[in-house]
Amino acid sequence: MKLSLYPYQLQFKFPFRIAHGVRTHTAVVYVKLEHEGFTAWGEATLPPYLPETQKSVSEFLLEFSKHISSTSIDDWFERLNPVQTNLSAKAALDMALWNLKARLENKPIVELLGVGRTNNDFPYGTYTIGVSSYDEMKLKVKEGNKYGFEIFKIKLNGENDEEQIRNFKKLSNKKFAVDVNQGWNTVEEAIEKILWLKEEGCILVEQPLKKDWLDEMKLLKQKSPLPLYADESCQRLSDLEKLKDCFDGVNIKLMKCGGITEAHQMILKAREFDMKVLIGCMSESSVGCTAAAQLTPLADYADLDGPYLISNDPFEGMKIKDGRIQLNPLKEKISLLKS
Ligand code: MG
Repeated sequence: MKLSLYPYQLQFKFPFRIAHGVRTHTAVVYVKLEHEGFTAWGEATLPPYLPETQKSVSEFLLEFSKHISSTSIDDWFERLNPVQTNLSAKAALDMALWNLKARLENKPIVELLGVGRTNNDFPYGTYTIGVSSYDEMKLKVKEGNKYGFEIFKIKLNGENDEEQIRNFKKLSNKKFAVDVNQGWNTVEEAIEKILWLKEEGCILVEQPLKKDWLDEMKLLKQKSPLPLYADESCQRLSDLEKLKDCFDGVNIKLMKCGGITEAHQMILKAREFDMKVLIGCMSESSVGCTAAAQLTPLADYADLDGPYLISNDPFEGMKIKDGRIQLNPLKEKISLLKS
């Protein structure tokens, strides 16, 4: 088993502004596994609010692989699954191993996971619009429509929320969700805005309050007419138990939980707790989003718009078709990786 690493910068088509700040690009590390004539890819995406860097991901993966002489994928999983640190690096290797297993067994990951795969099972994808001026939003709505998205996710930061929604509604009559990224400061502010958003036709609210404000969230959940989804509050499998009375659903991302293996366990646990599931991303390219897309037949929504937000994706894979996630095999555009 040969492991190679490719650091790379993904460029956003538009600057991406959320409650945490603004960014124009995202650092990633691509992981390539080669074994028995097959090649499989993984991706660690590293937005600046995460502690990992290209250097830490590369060092972790080189050190990890140095100590495994086995070529059995199951042995690699056995060593990787207990790892509790370097979760983006872990996610990259985990998805590369799943991709390799799929190639070796000639079955899609979705089938190896025991997930049904008729196209009707694939959920709608959402197209994310960061906090924008009217003119910027106009371009973004046009872009989302061009690719066939039927639901938009509008980022709010607590400062000009009404203007964002009013501008969106001038530009589109499609469904929309909002993601507050912890941007509201009190339960009272949240409930007032949620009541208004409900009237405006919003379908769900993601992370309205600070990630550790669970007592406040419990109160808000009792009063909210809209479903509330945890994102920053929900990182790992072990978080779900404490969130079940605070949120109606969870946003599960491979980069937060360390890959397909734990994300799959999280979906099953969330369903045990009667919670809704959204599969999200951190603006990964097609490698990360295609891996996450394997889980979407088990989800209610999929926020896998990364490949549509970046201008220099070195791969292609999952797509949006008639608004829904469509699984396609991952294809490399190697020339970009060499650049
Ligand atoms: Mg979010």
